[in-house]
Order: sequence, then C-alpha cells, then structure tokens
Amino acid sequence: MFVIKNEIQFDTAHFLSGYEGKCANIHGHRYRLIVSIRCETLHKDGHLRGMVDDFGSIKSILKEVELFFDHKMLVEDNEDGRKVKESLCALPNNFAVLCLPFRPTCEEMARYIYKMLYQKGLAVSEVELFETPTNSCIYFE
Ligand SMILES: [Zn+2]
Repeated sequence: MFVIKNEIQFDTAHFLSGYEGKCANIHGHRYRLIVSIRCETLHKDGHLRGMVDDFGSIKSILKEVELFFDHKMLVEDNEDGRKVKESLCALPNNFAVLCLPFRPTCEEMARYIYKMLYQKGLAVSEVELFETPTNSCIYFE
C-alpha cells in the first residue's frame, strides 16, 4: 500500500455561534491541511508511471482550497452568523466573509474540504486539518 501526502496552510478567522468559552470571540488560526491519497498499485505506464498521482496536480487542487479559505472570515449560515456578516460588511473595509451551511469547527471544515477535494476529482483517502499545532481532526469515508 502506498500513501502520498501533500500539505497546505492558510490563515482564517471564524465565529462559532452558540459556543461558550473564550472561543466565543471571533478569532483566527493558521490552519494546516494534510491530504492523503492511498493506493495499492502504481501507474504502470504513461507519464505517471511509477507514481500514485502527480504531486503537481494535487498541489494545484490544494491551491484552490487555500484560495477559498485564506484570509477569510467563516460564519455559519444561521441568525447569529448572518448578523456578524452584516455587521462586518457594513464597515468600509471590504471584509471577505464566507457564510457556510455548518458551524465552522475543525471537524466540519475537515469534512467539507474532503468533499470539496473529491468533487474536484482528487482520489482523496483522508484529510487531516490542524486548527492549532496540537489539535487536529482527521476525516475519511
Ligand atoms: Zn477557533
């Protein structure tokens, strides 16, 4: 069995509506995403001979994920989240706020990214999303 991995990092802020504790405040993380592709055999011919997949094409798909999240503010598409978005967007700063159909926890983001990669055609087997250097979530199906 072969497992190849690729990694990106992005800086993103989030608001967790309904959370009690210091993380109830808007705050940000430097997220670290590690994507694994598992395969029993290598390509037998063509330009991918001897490879599971092309690191270059994996990297370009991960770049799309990075651009989607990097320097954005994540809120849930609910009453609280929409209020935060409206307040920020009323300011003249041109804030980039993403309203997502889930609470933007590390776990939900890991699942969302997994599905995003799958839809982009990557044969992803697992994603691990680090929210801090010591806290991460692994999602696989
Ligand atoms: Zn957080």
